Amino acid sequence: MSKNKNNVTIGILALQGSVTEHERALENIGVKTVRVLKPEHLEGINGIILPGGESTTLGKLLKLFGIFEPLREKIQNGLAVFGTCAGLILLAKEIEGEQPHLGVMDIRVRRNAYGRQLDSFECESVITEFSADPLELVFIRAPWIEKTFGNARVVAELDGHVIAARQNNMLVTSFHPELTEQSAVHEYFAKMCGERASRA
Ligand code: GLN
Repeated sequence: MSKNKNNVTIGILALQGSVTEHERALENIGVKTVRVLKPEHLEGINGIILPGGESTTLGKLLKLFGIFEPLREKIQNGLAVFGTCAGLILLAKEIEGEQPHLGVMDIRVRRNAYGRQLDSFECESVITEFSADPLELVFIRAPWIEKTFGNARVVAELDGHVIAARQNNMLVTSFHPELTEQSAVHEYFAKMCGERASRA
């Protein structure tokens, strides 16, 4: 029997940022991963993770490596995508301040929203969509979602700010589940990829 959960392969955009952490998180739950560095690597995957890092740099690198347009098209055609932190910013239709971004999800984001004092912090919260148990949430110069519109829906809030959202094949979190030992969010995303794969 295949060890691979839901029989899915998940790509991880590997231009910059927390790549190995997402690989480890997915491998821990038995999901096959591939690193995406070229447009060809987008073939044969059931979903993709856009990791944290620096969203302006990531946006520029996506263009430089010729991945920007093909990735955008795949997502618009239903490829499951999970953006954490900078990845969330890349997916947003609206960002305060212009920068290259994929602009596919009905959310408005504010970069570095927590300001200098709370630059990086951790806390615990229950997000029922992911798990009944409290999740450790790690924020690093994190954005928050100022508003959802259109087809996006709020998945989690913290202190009145939206920190996770979903729109069909797209999932975003402003925190970093790959930096904890808990696998609930990666399990949830692998399931999203599996559902889409079985429908395709
Ligand atoms: N502050 C970064 C940005 O605006 C995101 C930080 C992160 O991904 N951890 O792109």
